Amino acid sequence: MSSLIPVATLGTPRIGLKRELKFALESYWSGKSDQLTLLQTAKDLRAVNWARQKARGVDIIPSNDFSFYDQVLDTSLMVGAIPAIYGEAADLDTYFAMARGAQKGHVETCEHGHVHATGQGVLAQEMTKWFDTNYHYMVPEFNEDQTFKLTSLKAVEEFLEAKALGYHTRPVLVGPVTYLKLGKGVANPLLLIDRLIPVYVEVLKKLSDAGADWVQIDEPVLVLDGDSETTAALQKAYAVFAKEVPQISILLASYFGGLGDNLDTAVNLPVAGLHVDLVRAPEQLEIVLAKAPKDLLLSLGVIDGRNIWRANLPAVLERLKGIDGRGNLQIAPSCSLLHVPIDLNLETALDADVKSWLAFSLQKMDELSVLSKALSGADVAAELTASADAASARAASPKVHDAAVKARLSAVTPDQAQRKNAFAIRADLQRQAFNLPAFPTTTIGSFPQTSEVRKARSDHAKGAIDDAHYDAFLKTETERAIRWQEEIGLDVLVHGEFERNDMVQYFGEQLSGFAFTKHAWVQSYGSRCVRPPVLFGDVSRPKPMTVAWWQYAQSLTDKPVKGMLTGPVTILNWSFVRDDQPRAESCRQIALAIRDEVSDLENAGTKMIQIDEAALREGLPLRRADWQVYLDWAVEAFRLCSTGVSNDTQIHTHMCYSEFNDIMDAVAEMDADVISIETSRSKMELLDVFKSKKYPNEIGPGVYDIHSPRVPEVSEMTELMSLARQRLDDVQLWINPDCGLKTRKWEEVKPALVNMVAAAKSLREAV
Ligand code: GLN
Ligand code: ZN
Repeated sequence: MSSLIPVATLGTPRIGLKRELKFALESYWSGKSDQLTLLQTAKDLRAVNWARQKARGVDIIPSNDFSFYDQVLDTSLMVGAIPAIYGEAADLDTYFAMARGAQKGHVETCEHGHVHATGQGVLAQEMTKWFDTNYHYMVPEFNEDQTFKLTSLKAVEEFLEAKALGYHTRPVLVGPVTYLKLGKGVANPLLLIDRLIPVYVEVLKKLSDAGADWVQIDEPVLVLDGDSETTAALQKAYAVFAKEVPQISILLASYFGGLGDNLDTAVNLPVAGLHVDLVRAPEQLEIVLAKAPKDLLLSLGVIDGRNIWRANLPAVLERLKGIDGRGNLQIAPSCSLLHVPIDLNLETALDADVKSWLAFSLQKMDELSVLSKALSGADVAAELTASADAASARAASPKVHDAAVKARLSAVTPDQAQRKNAFAIRADLQRQAFNLPAFPTTTIGSFPQTSEVRKARSDHAKGAIDDAHYDAFLKTETERAIRWQEEIGLDVLVHGEFERNDMVQYFGEQLSGFAFTKHAWVQSYGSRCVRPPVLFGDVSRPKPMTVAWWQYAQSLTDKPVKGMLTGPVTILNWSFVRDDQPRAESCRQIALAIRDEVSDLENAGTKMIQIDEAALREGLPLRRADWQVYLDWAVEAFRLCSTGVSNDTQIHTHMCYSEFNDIMDAVAEMDADVISIETSRSKMELLDVFKSKKYPNEIGPGVYDIHSPRVPEVSEMTELMSLARQRLDDVQLWINPDCGLKTRKWEEVKPALVNMVAAAKSLREAV
């Protein structure tokens, strides 16, 4: 029997089984509870979390994986990268001001520790997605004279807190190179590495003084395309750590993919251990084993930290055969368990078969513990058999496999992803049919989801109001929205999406192949959590999903009302998806289901159908070499769902981000008749690429920043449109907000859209 291979978790969900942290944060922010209460809740959550890991057989328990908001923001506090507008104090309220903004010029706290508002506001730091996850981090902000100093001892404090409870933890830090690379404000943040290194040295020394022997340092930049500057920064930083703090053993963690061209760099850094992701990149095991020096501890990420499927443990063991006799190993999830929900056992209403195929963070710890025992020769035959049985049951289940869906997919012909004629011909027909004024006005789909709308939805879900009452309520809201749009003179109307809880969930709930959880929350940012749908089986659409709402809305007006759908790529990217077939395959299935809906809308008389692809860009793989393959299938899926219509049916799409350079060709190939995009904050500069690529189809560049409560003036919008007109032909241009209005209040939306219509009129008069 070989010695036991220790189990590590790398990081765990911090929000709490019942989202305790979310509620504690929100209560504190709203002034309903004090800071002590918040601190105590956090402390309790950490204690429970450590105890749970211990009980599940985790040998190497992390600390400092907790965060009140975000681990990158924690790092900014740790190294004193606090922009001057937030003041000097590296305290919790400064931290929250950086995370969420504050309503005043400088941050001041009352006796309860709350940020109070007077005067001008302080904006939150920018937030963006953490690699290719749906977790958002706060973008560090640097300046040319940036200096760093140790201003937060959170990592040390949490180590000591665990120690006092009897856990010898391995603290986690965001690595210095990853931290700098994610930052902005200077041309090349990596040049700041020399100034940053001493702060990390200080932290490592303090951790050592507190009793830590190992520290996990996360450098997910190791799975991005390598470049010499990053390599040099890594080599410099870790050489200094080895020299200055030799008493600390560093586990360098790579995750979210393979090391690829960074492999030689990674295995040769002067660190004591290296974590590798063997779920996204199982093929790298061999070469890592071959190249890693024997005294380098290898942490093998063998259980999926990004998805919710139960592993097939005998198959995992089979893949690990090559480690025989290596020694100096640990096993772990592929990445921190932050990205999966906590406990599957809470899901009492989930289909029993589907549930038996899933594993959340606690179940993944159990799996690791079984693997560790199996690798050391212990008898876990029963657990291994159960795991293999679940895998075969899933593979053979009629709930997963639908022969009709597979047959339909294999019968798809290229012409099914092709409009009948080219855009120029369609555009002529559409202009004749619709007879819209120049610069037609429209909105992106949703209108404010007021507290009444949300209350009606939750009352309906709880059974407190019946279907008929809920339906009547939604009809009233829809009718009001239609009347009001007519009144202010919008040209193309929307029904308002009052019936939708979420643009993906609404469709997932009506498609076969998706399951929904009750408690499987995953942190998206700060206190915000999401419950992604679980795509477990072949997808089809049993019956129309949106037609009745469109029909009702259109029955109220002579103006065109757009049919409103979410596109296949977005549905895919915002769900937990199957790992038993390629993403492309799942996406095509969703595309065919949406195609059915498009066809039913068209048959019902819809002349304009908008298919939102809000998440198309964020699905781009981490390495450039993989982009084209992704874009090819993503574009094909969009075309498959959208091209089965006649020439004079106008297909709209919407994408809410402001970065098109990398995907411009793909966007053109999608061949939507009209695309609306987010442009109001970029001063229309992002239209440059539409101009240089001679994008021929119609475009609605957003003229109203819906992320802000501010009501834009008419002149601001005409100004933005004149910038758009410098780049595109008048016939191409529509006028609309940046995105849907569901998060805004009617008091903001009404004057803003009145101004938008006025802006369109003044442009028309001027031409
Ligand atoms: N139609 C959706 C809405 O208006 C689009 C939202 C989005 O792209 N994020 O809410
Ligand atoms: Zn949007």
